[in-house]
Amino acid sequence: MDPKDPADLEYTAEQMAAMGRAALDRVVAHVASLPEQPICGNVEVDDLCRAMRESAPESGADLETLLDRLYGEWIPRSFTTSAPGYMAYIPGGGLFPAGLADLIADTSNRFTGLWRAAPALVQLEANVLSWFRSWMQFPESTAGLLTPGGSMATFNAILCARERHLGPDLRSGTAYVSDEVHHCVFKAARHAGIMPDRIRRIPVDERFRMRVGALREAIARDRADGLRPFLVVGSAGTINTGAVDPLDDLADLAARERVWFHLDGAYGAFFHVCPELRPLLAGLPRADSLALDPHKGLFLPYGTGALLVRDGAALRAVHAIDASYLPVPASDDLYEPARHGPDLSRGYPGLRVWMCVKLFGAARLRAAIAEKRRLAVDAARRLGALPAVRVLDPPALSLFAFHLRLPGAAVAGENAATRSLLDRVRARGKVMITGCEAGGRFLARVCVLSFRTRQAQVDTLVEHVSEEAAAILQGE
Ligand SMILES: *Cc1c(COP(=O)(O)O)cnc(C)c1O
Repeated sequence: MDPKDPADLEYTAEQMAAMGRAALDRVVAHVASLPEQPICGNVEVDDLCRAMRESAPESGADLETLLDRLYGEWIPRSFTTSAPGYMAYIPGGGLFPAGLADLIADTSNRFTGLWRAAPALVQLEANVLSWFRSWMQFPESTAGLLTPGGSMATFNAILCARERHLGPDLRSGTAYVSDEVHHCVFKAARHAGIMPDRIRRIPVDERFRMRVGALREAIARDRADGLRPFLVVGSAGTINTGAVDPLDDLADLAARERVWFHLDGAYGAFFHVCPELRPLLAGLPRADSLALDPHKGLFLPYGTGALLVRDGAALRAVHAIDASYLPVPASDDLYEPARHGPDLSRGYPGLRVWMCVKLFGAARLRAAIAEKRRLAVDAARRLGALPAVRVLDPPALSLFAFHLRLPGAAVAGENAATRSLLDRVRARGKVMITGCEAGGRFLARVCVLSFRTRQAQVDTLVEHVSEEAAAILQGE
């Protein structure tokens, strides 16, 4: 970049190398120090954020100054979602090679919306989708799409169901979800033109799984009222307690009722990559569509979701495009992202997944996924053995819920104690867990899904929960 030529935005080779080194130094120091970083930074900084507002600068700053502020001031003021002790919500990942892939994708900046513009690169993305297909045991007819996350995967799935079953008359269509379904389904349905009054919330059983009998009755009621049931959404791991709906029963019912069966696997689908864990998700391969989140269960950084649609023609029907200024479509056996999803110009999400799977190999990823389940089972067993703790159920996958048990206390008292436990554990700085409301109480929940969470963090979790629970019981 020539300082005397204001229209010159290109860096020289030497400048790029120096900037790359400067950024990489920070990246490596940051990642290497994750275990020592507080598990939750100070996020009560609303006033700081207001003070950060500024108009666009007229002249450029220097890189070190920007990096100083990012790594010194702004990144630390957050939940440390990439730290090993993060077992809150559904942990994301952040495998390092994905960052390299993003740098390559952003600086090569090829156009991957259409096959013809970068055929070999698009093929890498098609390979990724075909790996997902085979891990999920979906048939050859499947088409897929990489999305920014599970929410957008769900949106595209509902579009497919709507297009296939409703045509232009959306108001008569009804959809069915469990009481424990992720809120993104309601949002996606609304985006797809399905309003909340057309969504039926089906009650769950004592283990938070959709009651299939109640579902059958709700469908029959709507048919009797002249409505058109078109979509059942199951969960392969709910956000609150990690419950897995009876997937085979849902698939049977959906087939009998001729409705679309969408499965929310944003949290749990990647456990299906491990053959020995497939029985925990029996029926998953029978869904009409499956949302999965590589940025959770495959340890990718945020920004990578995926959708598989068993009858690929349904996905193409929603996203068909034709315009004289576009290159001629690829032949049928070749993949075109823009003909399978809403975007035309887009980033290149395939490369980060491809790079990680190629560098690690599937066996290593499977070992890590299976370990997360073992760790969660271990954590649930050890927490459940504490006298002050009641674990509701062992983890269906790698998530379980628990609450404090106070002799003689009402539910409200136990709720308050459980909330306080979460705060106290987080304040110790090593592990972070969060809570939810389900089954009429406040529950703490533990989700082991970060690739960085290992036995040591589970040991710390058990130690900190047990000490803080004892202190709460003694009124300290
Ligand atoms: C995370 C999650 C979603 C939403 O996915 P995003 O990637 O956050 O958009 C949906 N369902 C479940 C069960 C989830 O865990």
